[in-house]
Amino acid sequence: MLAAAAPAAADDGDVLVQAGHEGRPGSCAPLHVKACNLGTGASGERERDWTPIVADQVARVLRAHGYTVIRRPADYAEHDTARAAVFLHFDGAVPCASGASVGFPETTSRAFVDAWEQRYRAWFPFRFVGENFTENEHRYYGFRKVDAPEKMLIEFGEMTCPEQFAWLQPRLRRLGNEVAAFLMEQLPR
Ligand SMILES: [Zn+2]
Repeated sequence: MLAAAAPAAADDGDVLVQAGHEGRPGSCAPLHVKACNLGTGASGERERDWTPIVADQVARVLRAHGYTVIRRPADYAEHDTARAAVFLHFDGAVPCASGASVGFPETTSRAFVDAWEQRYRAWFPFRFVGENFTENEHRYYGFRKVDAPEKMLIEFGEMTCPEQFAWLQPRLRRLGNEVAAFLMEQLPR
């Protein structure tokens, strides 16, 4: 191993995995986050409790396969470097107006986005509502906190749609397995 050249307030890994809204609202004030979006929820379940379950599973599977993982909550001071970064969310909307979607900056490759969409569309039995369909998805603040050739925000589905909620709730770890499988396929060791 070479001596680390990176500053202390940064991490370097194969994959950065962020759990959307995790740690809020507590993390907003100390990190000066003005738009403290707490995420959605339904039936007594909160998005910010679901996303860490998925993110932890992604990290567990990747680490078991020898990948280095930077696991981040919603708010943190560090600026990281990785080969790919994924930001995990569930959507909330006027009930059943939404579904699954993705957001990404211009730098993310078409192949990366297509590979996830193909994989998830084949499994998720509800609507795929689009790409970058809100400014929040297209210009997600998390994209600026990591240097990575591939960055993508994943909305797994809509918590506020009862049918989607019922499908998603028992599959949180399987969602993590799916994201991990996708990333390992995209980032051969
Ligand atoms: Zn969210």
